[in-house]
Amino acid sequence: MQTAEQLITEAGLRPTKARLAVLSVMINSHTALSHTEILSALHGVKEIDRVTVYRVLDWLQENALIHKISTDDRAWKFQLNAPKRSYKAADGTSHSALLTPSGLPSNHGHAHLHCQQCGTVLCIHELAAHIPAGIFQTYQVSHIEISLKGICPDCQQAAA
Ligand SMILES: [Zn+2]
Ligand SMILES: [Zn+2]
Repeated sequence: MQTAEQLITEAGLRPTKARLAVLSVMINSHTALSHTEILSALHGVKEIDRVTVYRVLDWLQENALIHKISTDDRAWKFQLNAPKRSYKAADGTSHSALLTPSGLPSNHGHAHLHCQQCGTVLCIHELAAHIPAGIFQTYQVSHIEISLKGICPDCQQAAA
C-alpha cells in the first residue's frame, strides 16, 4: 500500500499537512470511514478541525483519490479508491482494477457491500450500474450507488 504522500504526489497534487493526515487515517483503516470517525482519529492534531476535515475530504474526492458511500444513518462514509478496499472472490482472485471515473458525476456507480454488524464497507467493482442514458438527459444525477447489506464472513464466524 502506498503512503499518503505517494498517493498525492503521484497524482500530481500538492500534499499539505492536513491532506496527509486525513489520507493516512483512511489508509490505515480497513474500511470506509465517516467524517466523524476521521475527525476523532485526528483528535489532538494541531490545526485540524471539523471544517479542515470536510475541506480535505472534498478535495480528495475532486481529485479522485476517494469516493463517498451513503449509509443508513444518513452520514456519508469515505473510501479510498484502492483495490485493497474491494471485495475479493473466495478463490482469492480479485477482478478489481483501479477505479476509473467514467465521466459520471462524483461517483462511479459501482456497488458496495455493507456488513450490518461491524459496519465494514467494501467496494464491488464487478457489479456496476448499467443506467439508461436517457436518465442523464432528464435527471441531474449527483450520486449513483448500489448497496448490498448483510453479515460479513468475520462476523459470521464470530457468531458461530
Ligand atoms: Zn462484519
Ligand atoms: Zn466504492
